[in-house]
Amino acid sequence: MNRIKWDQYFMAQSHLLALRSTCTRLTVGATIVRDKRIIAGGYNGSIAGGTHCIDEGCYVIDNHCVRTIHAEMNALLQCAKFGVPTENAEIYVTHFPCLQCCKAIIQSGIKAVYYAIDYKNHPYAIELFAGANVDVEQVVLEEMVIDVKTKEKVEFVNQLIEKVSEMGADDKEVKELYEHAATLFSTVS
Ligand SMILES: [Zn+2]
Ligand SMILES: [Zn+2]
Repeated sequence: MNRIKWDQYFMAQSHLLALRSTCTRLTVGATIVRDKRIIAGGYNGSIAGGTHCIDEGCYVIDNHCVRTIHAEMNALLQCAKFGVPTENAEIYVTHFPCLQCCKAIIQSGIKAVYYAIDYKNHPYAIELFAGANVDVEQVVLEEMVIDVKTKEKVEFVNQLIEKVSEMGADDKEVKELYEHAATLFSTVS
């Protein structure tokens, strides 16, 4: 049995959280981890009960959406709300943190930042992380545990097999292709 690696598991969790984002400018997720346990999570969104950007558009000032609380900040604030210590914790984020989040991460005592996607990596953020001895490492989500395009892929593979069939493959070969596809996509009919 293949077990998902811890860093992939936490990064997958952040990608899952990103799917809950309500700001359309960037969907970001963040997961705070201590001793291999998830202690908090956040995504890009408005204050609880507030207007969502996805409903009314972003509130943009100086090219930033001011309505949105960043995923990292939301995760940290969840720790504040419930009184969970963040000292020596780690954070897994889908995108390289902005300067504001960088400072909040350092100040909350987090010791490692794992990010999946480079995003305007600010030299000052890199400098601040280094100065505060915060490990920063890119962890690309490799294991496709979350696949939001499964349906399209299934349809595409079915179309390909149909084409192969039309081009004169014999029935046995086509049947084998369908069977192989079915093992990859459990929903293939
Ligand atoms: Zn927004
Ligand atoms: Zn940020």
